[in-house]
Amino acid sequence: MTAAISFDNSYARLPPSFYARVLPAPAPEPRLVKLNRALAEELRIDPEALAGPAGLQFLAGNAVPEGAEPIATAYAGHQFGYFVPRLGDGRAILLGEIIGRDGVRRDLQLKGSGRTPFSRNGDGRAALGPVLREYLVSEAMAALGIPTTRALAAVTTGETVARERTLPGAVLSRVATSHIRVGTFQFFAARGDVESLRALADHVIARHYAEAANAAEPYRALLDEVIRRQGRLVAQWLLVGFIHGVMNTDNMSVAGETIDYGPCAFMDAYDPATVFSSIDEHGRYAYGNQPTIAHWNLTRLAESLLPLLAEDQEQAVATAREALARFPEAFNEAYLAGLRAKLGLSEAREGDLALAQDLLDRMAANRADFTLTFRRLCAAARDPAADAELRALFEDPSAYDGWAARWRDRLAEEGGDGAAREAAMRRVNPALIPRNHLVEGAIEAAVERQDFALFEQLLDALMTPFEERAVHAGFYDLPPQAQGYRTFCGT
Ligand code: AMP
Ligand code: MG
Repeated sequence: MTAAISFDNSYARLPPSFYARVLPAPAPEPRLVKLNRALAEELRIDPEALAGPAGLQFLAGNAVPEGAEPIATAYAGHQFGYFVPRLGDGRAILLGEIIGRDGVRRDLQLKGSGRTPFSRNGDGRAALGPVLREYLVSEAMAALGIPTTRALAAVTTGETVARERTLPGAVLSRVATSHIRVGTFQFFAARGDVESLRALADHVIARHYAEAANAAEPYRALLDEVIRRQGRLVAQWLLVGFIHGVMNTDNMSVAGETIDYGPCAFMDAYDPATVFSSIDEHGRYAYGNQPTIAHWNLTRLAESLLPLLAEDQEQAVATAREALARFPEAFNEAYLAGLRAKLGLSEAREGDLALAQDLLDRMAANRADFTLTFRRLCAAARDPAADAELRALFEDPSAYDGWAARWRDRLAEEGGDGAAREAAMRRVNPALIPRNHLVEGAIEAAVERQDFALFEQLLDALMTPFEERAVHAGFYDLPPQAQGYRTFCGT
């Protein structure tokens, strides 16, 4: 059987200035490391065929599946605040689009499959470690219910790539509702190419924001909706302790999905100033700075859209300002709703944010583990006997006691069934996130010893993040004291 894939490539039908046609570079000795069978089925691709010899050739870039139209897309972007007018897919090739079983159109992209006209000085390659990191973290995000690109497969190429040292090369097959970025809009805006800008906006509306097409001002509606989705997305990140690490405008999807997992990581002890990325020297992309940066990036999107928002420049600026002013509301609403759920509060009351903030402040002052604090609150909501395990997470355990009294008063005001509350809290407070030491351990075993067992186990555990399963016992524990953890770019 061949791995038949039904492509329908709407992006490749856009004008030639949107992309460069390019073929993936072949891999000398491809080997399948991991296939996401469930995702293949959602995409109506036969997983058996994809795991077979013909499928492996596609996943490695050695053969282009029938119906695919490989392109590298053009985009610009602000990297750490500085504008670069031409970035584009330097190490990724979009094979085409597939309509899934759910009727949703998705991109299938190979990441790490060779040079493109956008590679600049890069080799267009990816190393196995970052490919596995993206696989683990993006699939974990999906299981946590957070919008994200997905990992369809990881293959090793049989080639080495030169980084700080020589590493095994790999290709990640990535799936996204689209790979259109804020930087894609910036690309055309910077060139003053309003016609292309309009074609791009129309494409994005048709693909992601169908309701906007019927609005009185479709481009304003598009901007509003991107702002709303991005606000909600960043709130969801904060609620699980996720740090993207490199929120450049070229790494922000206009579809509202988490995209481009480079130096991303989850924090263990709660500290809003947490930064892991080695290149983020000034903490621009620190955990607690992410809402501000999302707003900054959306401002760049709004600027790019100005020519479409109104004929009159002043009117366009006023419209953009109005839309951007709604970002804090979009973020705060989602963040506060999420915090309430994490604390087991089902009614909205004045003072809820202050109550949550008080806990977070005490956690920060006492280096309390973010994930475990909230997870252990689940049991404590039903039975104060569970407090002992919670207190132990705080350097000064009495810091918890003071807050818990306030919290219990608030829970009592609301009333309700303790067991039901605990169950609801367990559905929003994960027992497991891809902790740095676990991800590093899995990557190291794979890269240094070709041992993928830990990767498989961790991935399996991460698929059910709200459940502690006995087979995965050690994963749910506090991490060993990790100081100065650093992550690196270079997928
Ligand atoms: P990112 O790491 O996603 O922020 O990438 C920034 C830009 O650098 C994008 O245009 C990438 O395509 C490009 N890039 C990153 N790594 C490579 C590489 N190894 N070869 C070619 N281009 C790359
Ligand atoms: Mg990128």
